[in-house]
Amino acid sequence: MLFTITTTRQPATDLGYLLHKHPAKVQEVELAKGTARIFYTEASKERCTLAMAIEVDPIALIRHSGNMTESFSLGQYVNDRPYAASSIFSNALSKCFSSAMNGRCKDKPELVDEAMPFEVKIAVLPVRGGEAVLKQLLEPLGYTVQAERHVLDEQFNWGDSRYYTVTLRNTCKLSDLLSHLYVLVPVFDNNKHYWIGEGEVDKLLDKGEGWLDKHPAKDMITRRYLRNLGGLTKRALLALNIDEEPIDEEADEAPTNEKKVRLHDQRLETVNQELLNTGAKRVLDLGCGEGKLLRLLLQQKQFESILGMDVSARSIEIAKERLNFDKLSAKYKERINLIQGALTYRDKRLQGFDAAALVEVIEHLDEPRLEALTANVFGSAMPTHVVITTPNKEYNSMYENMAEDAMRHNDHRFEWTRAEFETWSNAVAAQYGYTVSYKPVGEVNANVGAPSQMAVFSKK
Ligand code: SAH
Repeated sequence: MLFTITTTRQPATDLGYLLHKHPAKVQEVELAKGTARIFYTEASKERCTLAMAIEVDPIALIRHSGNMTESFSLGQYVNDRPYAASSIFSNALSKCFSSAMNGRCKDKPELVDEAMPFEVKIAVLPVRGGEAVLKQLLEPLGYTVQAERHVLDEQFNWGDSRYYTVTLRNTCKLSDLLSHLYVLVPVFDNNKHYWIGEGEVDKLLDKGEGWLDKHPAKDMITRRYLRNLGGLTKRALLALNIDEEPIDEEADEAPTNEKKVRLHDQRLETVNQELLNTGAKRVLDLGCGEGKLLRLLLQQKQFESILGMDVSARSIEIAKERLNFDKLSAKYKERINLIQGALTYRDKRLQGFDAAALVEVIEHLDEPRLEALTANVFGSAMPTHVVITTPNKEYNSMYENMAEDAMRHNDHRFEWTRAEFETWSNAVAAQYGYTVSYKPVGEVNANVGAPSQMAVFSKK
């Protein structure tokens, strides 16, 4: 895919300072899934154009996809990602022009706040909803939009595709222009993005600062941008003051049979299965959050007694709402209870259970507090089996747009490699007299393992 940006504000070669790219040089920037080549096609006092050609490595795309498909799907191999502008484009923008996007210019800082005439060309841009959506999203930001729609195949009479070569013109600050494109390009595409990390909400709010909350289509932008990220969308909608009721704006989409299993659902299903395998009848969900696992557990007749605990009263409240707790029939109600409590204090209410699950909980505690947690869970509650899951830090490199050393969630205090998790778990097992085995959760990558990791402890 090709992106060009032109200015006629004189001297036009100042564009090189603003973008931190020298007009006389060709540069190559490595991306998570390909390479961006940056060069100038013209650089005179009157007019200056920088071009960025992104070449996607289709093999790396498949090998690195954090894409949870239930079964083999041809769509993984045959898709438009190598040539169409999408989230890979946004990733390239932020990687190649982060200073400019953040409004920094080392040599000519006075240029940063100046509105300048820009012309941007993107080839090709997939747009669901066609030219109307292009205009709906760009015109309120001051752009004039010229769009050339491509036919599906020139040799056959198959009609129009959803791919466009677009030319946008605006007089604005460069940092605004780059932020607009960063957010909107994947929004136009509205494809099933590969899972892009939970920090994505903050990125949307950060790059959308100053314009998104005033945009008349902020609702559609947010929903499309965070597509497939369920709970995250909710957080962003709240932050932007948008009603939660979903709107039907995907009517133009082709129906798809492809069934995506989100990582978290897959994780919960794996834990549920593991608990069933232990033969447990009385189970604990420690750090139960909003009760997703509890709902699954309640559906298993094998579990005669289920106790959910969380330190957050608000989470317990939401879990109760989600489970329709007050309206449960007697048959269900006598099997489940929810309590508030901190895992780092000895708690007798947790004693007498066969198995406990801690799903994505330990990484929310400061590492030095884990000792108190294990003393309570393994030393005091002492269920026969304990299932613990936590992110596999090594897998983070697979997520597009995730900065190095970033964590998947703001509230994570640490994230461990497989070796770190195993070292910790082996020590806990030895201390409290358990055996422990490990399983990956999610699709396994040969180099970095699976997105999530699980330890299953059993009392000797
Ligand atoms: N297990 C749930 C929630 C994971 S989020 C799920 O998989 O969906 C982590 C949860 O751990 C949060 O709900 C948080 O409130 C809870 N938590 C964090 N520290 C805790 C502590 N010290 N004691 C009990 N719960 C805790």
